[in-house]
Amino acid sequence: MKYISTRGHAGQPANPEFCDILLGGLAPDGGLYLPESYPLIGREELDAWRSLSYAELAFAILSKFITDIPAADLKAICDKTYTAAVYCHVRPGDNAADITPVRWLEDGKLGLLELSNGPTLAFKDMAMQLLGNLFEYVLAKRGESINILGATSGDTGSAAEYAMRGKQGVRVFMLSPHGKMSAFQRAQMYSLQDDNIFNIAVTGMFDDAQDIVKAVSNDHAFKAKHRIGAVNSINWARVAAQIVYYFKGYFEATKSNDEQVAFCVPSGNFGNICAGHIARQMGLPVAKLILATNENNVLDEFFRTGVYRPRKTAETSVTSSPSMDISKASNFERFVFDLVGRDPKKVAELWAEVDAGRPFDLTTTPWFARLDDFAFVSGSSSHADRLETIRSIYETYGVMIDTHTADGVKVARELAAEVPAGVPLLVLETALPVKFAETIREALGRDPEVPADLQGLETLPQRVEVMAPDGEQIKRFIAERV
Ligand SMILES: *Cc1c(COP(=O)(O)O)cnc(C)c1O
Repeated sequence: MKYISTRGHAGQPANPEFCDILLGGLAPDGGLYLPESYPLIGREELDAWRSLSYAELAFAILSKFITDIPAADLKAICDKTYTAAVYCHVRPGDNAADITPVRWLEDGKLGLLELSNGPTLAFKDMAMQLLGNLFEYVLAKRGESINILGATSGDTGSAAEYAMRGKQGVRVFMLSPHGKMSAFQRAQMYSLQDDNIFNIAVTGMFDDAQDIVKAVSNDHAFKAKHRIGAVNSINWARVAAQIVYYFKGYFEATKSNDEQVAFCVPSGNFGNICAGHIARQMGLPVAKLILATNENNVLDEFFRTGVYRPRKTAETSVTSSPSMDISKASNFERFVFDLVGRDPKKVAELWAEVDAGRPFDLTTTPWFARLDDFAFVSGSSSHADRLETIRSIYETYGVMIDTHTADGVKVARELAAEVPAGVPLLVLETALPVKFAETIREALGRDPEVPADLQGLETLPQRVEVMAPDGEQIKRFIAERV
């Protein structure tokens, strides 16, 4: 499988394969990588996949996109990644071996696809755990090493650190805003004692941390000398890994491949739902893809109006579903590439506007009507909606959900009429409630449950460097340790 850039120039080598783009971020032309075509899954193959375990299914799907790793090696990587021991935080009554079990709220009608049973209790583990094993494999083959520099507001940093801890050839330098994350999130990251993990708490906001990462990435000499890499959400391998659970969820929610399914996805950077879009393009019988945002509704606005109006950081609200507080959805470019008939010139034109801070408007173009062909609908949610949904799901079904999943459930209930009768609707559960305990207390007047193996996490010794938001100082810190 060869990869192309959404803006037309995939760089060197001219026709990269999976391993060529695994460790990098953007394509050199500023675009995002996508496979040159989506593999189509026929009925026979879909029938054969229905009975596979998660790890087997991951191998079946990923081997379509990863053709430059020997099959036996890729199979071993999938087997090692998707185990019941890694995804152990299932709810009582669920089978950890399913990796992503469905918890039905209304039998066969409305369910939660549990994606948060991994080490850091958020769906980011589904892809990041695979990435850790792929990085280690590819770096060992090439005799290379990499130093990952990232910034996190909470979930991404811990998912990356748990995926990379103890991995040969990989070091992680993760910047976080000092004192801004929840106590649980801080404990998750800072309690790691692995030699290859470095936590840096920056005395500033998330944006200050992000700006330092950008500045270091733009220092090409430093970046090359110290082999600086990234694991942000535009990484193609992360999207590819996420395709798997759409298939798995379909098989769990239906009895035969004559049926259809619908998904509702709490969205921020459009990474998760982009994988759902690709699964549907591959032939998965998806009746609807329902996109849910919080108050930061830039994507909901696009799917309702055809106008994409990215916001400035200052216009981004801080909400109680913080992992969806985004003003520019980086993965959205991948969907628009498909929407405009995979025309890289058109995408480059549209993103020239976006990169200059201007909106684009597709309402008067033929593509606006095509949104229906892609089965997307959307809605948004507020803090009050979130509290009300958490309460109502807990009271009605005895199931506690986190704030992001609550945004999904709220929009799913609102748009249920868009889903054809008899088609099961799965809301993707993107985190467990314990990560956002303050809002759970506000909604329910009680604390969320802490998984047994994470009790006492907040009392463990922590290892973190507090530093000023000073790029030069942070570069020195990295240079002294690599
Ligand atoms: C990252 C994240 C999201 C948003 O996912 P995208 O792929 O950015 O759309 C939603 N919920 C939680 C809990 C997350 O960590």
